[in-house]
Amino acid sequence: MCGIMGYNGRENAIPIVIKGLKNLEYRGYDSSGIAYFKDKMIKIIKEKGRIIELEKLLTSDKTNVCIGHTRWATHGKPSQVNSHPHIVGGVTLVHNGIIENYHTLKEDLMQKGYSFKSETDTEVAAALIDSLLSESKNKIELLEKTRKILKGSYAFLILFADEKETMYALREGSPLIVATNETGNFVASDIPAILEYTKNYYLLDKEIAVIQKNDVKFYLNNQEVKKELLTFNHDLVSAKKDGYQHFMLKEIHEEPVLVKNFLDYYLNNFDLIPDISKYNRIYIVACGSAYHAGLIGSYLIEKYGDLEVIVEVASEFRYRKTFLDKNSLVILISQSGETADTIASLRKAKEYQAKTLGIVNVVGSTIAREVDQVIYINAGCEIAVATTKAYTLQVLTLSLLAYKIGLIKKIISSKEKEIILKDYQVLAQEIKNLIEFDYLKFARKISQEKDVFFIGRLIDYYIALEGSLKLKEISYIHSETYPAGELKHGTISLIEEKTPVISILTDQTIYEKTISNIKETKARGAYSLVLKRKQFYLSNDIYDDLIEIPNATDLVSCILTIIPLQLLAYYTALELGYDIDKPRNLAKSVTVE
Ligand code: GLU
Repeated sequence: MCGIMGYNGRENAIPIVIKGLKNLEYRGYDSSGIAYFKDKMIKIIKEKGRIIELEKLLTSDKTNVCIGHTRWATHGKPSQVNSHPHIVGGVTLVHNGIIENYHTLKEDLMQKGYSFKSETDTEVAAALIDSLLSESKNKIELLEKTRKILKGSYAFLILFADEKETMYALREGSPLIVATNETGNFVASDIPAILEYTKNYYLLDKEIAVIQKNDVKFYLNNQEVKKELLTFNHDLVSAKKDGYQHFMLKEIHEEPVLVKNFLDYYLNNFDLIPDISKYNRIYIVACGSAYHAGLIGSYLIEKYGDLEVIVEVASEFRYRKTFLDKNSLVILISQSGETADTIASLRKAKEYQAKTLGIVNVVGSTIAREVDQVIYINAGCEIAVATTKAYTLQVLTLSLLAYKIGLIKKIISSKEKEIILKDYQVLAQEIKNLIEFDYLKFARKISQEKDVFFIGRLIDYYIALEGSLKLKEISYIHSETYPAGELKHGTISLIEEKTPVISILTDQTIYEKTISNIKETKARGAYSLVLKRKQFYLSNDIYDDLIEIPNATDLVSCILTIIPLQLLAYYTALELGYDIDKPRNLAKSVTVE
């Protein structure tokens, strides 16, 4: 998490770094800071709160070398003293990640006479590097030594007091890119920070980067190495709001076009969708919304491919006993491709010689590079912390995987194939129609309440999980999801007069059972909002409000159904006046465990 931005070049670095940090604010936003040389001394300006607070403290100083950070606190509360950059002796740095052995290191360093101002693990890393300065021949050797001592995940951008013209970067786990244009060189956590200046970048891996005004060099095991300069080919405007009030709303509105492009591309290049029918054990491993996409994927693959799929949260999978072997497939889903737990799960799968397939948005990210095969969802930059378009494209990818096995195993007949292809064809337009519906009137009712319940069965339960997550992420309303039949085993005691119960009814095989469960909640005074497939009959005593989803096969209707839920969450948060793109305590791209 957190955003790192640095510039070394001919322009004034401070506004460039500030602008870059603003474009990275979705990664962390509880405090921010910058560091640069002023009259041969390091000057640090940092403040608690959004970058706008930092801007109030800026002077008319100009500099050609500056590093900056926007924080997502892990060690120590958000405060001025805990915010980055941190300086110890001759070392000033910003850090993304967690140093797991910081406690023992801190004790050792205190014995050596170091004292600490902040509660952060970051300041300990700065002290460690400072302590190694005198015993190292040069900075490369120093940083190699540092890498051997530190445990955990980190990306550092470093200034040394005795090298005013140079920035150093070192990473392990947490992402970092080095970008370049005709004015100079940049370092950033993610591409949106540099898009305004250049599309050319290097993806830092195990190398140490030495960044000067006119030159960037990379070192691995104390040897200089060459790296490939990559070009970011997506549309630059995707990192802008384009007149929408929030990125989240803009990203929901992008869904029809993205879905259309995705289907056009992959249905015409169907070979790129792998045949997963040959594996005897399939796992889907992911976190958050990507995990919910995985659950839907498991339902579809089981239904259309007649294959059992186990879905696991990555932070559990990485530590639990598993039964993987070379005939297993592990599908890893991550928007950023940098999710720490998902990366660890991928590496575990490889240890067991399982085959790995990534469903990833960010091109060239760690997961994309390390899996045996990757399917890019091509969602462009997703800036809102609460995912919408990336989630939808993840589900669509899994839908195509299921469709493909269904064809290969002849579970899908040629008549069904025609229907499915027709459904895919109209999907983008149907999403567009759903986006245009008025959700504000329902959102107004929901925004008045403290607790919301989502229910559904089978695939409808999985869709409900994502709808509920969206709502709580951005509206802070407590929301729980239950398989509809489970409510009466305890949770129904929480239903009071007007408690919203949002029910999903799209699964042909089971919706009638869910209707009985909705009745049980209505009998206890719930406000019932139902999302149902158009073709299903529903008597009007079951619902207070109704949203209808066009008829389509499960491969498609699971995608349609999430659109109203995304918008419902959006308008509820809007009604409550929250900062929708940057919800409290969250950050995009979860690069810590
Ligand atoms: N662990 C560091 C801290 O709490 C860095 C957190 C971040 O990645 O923003 O300060």
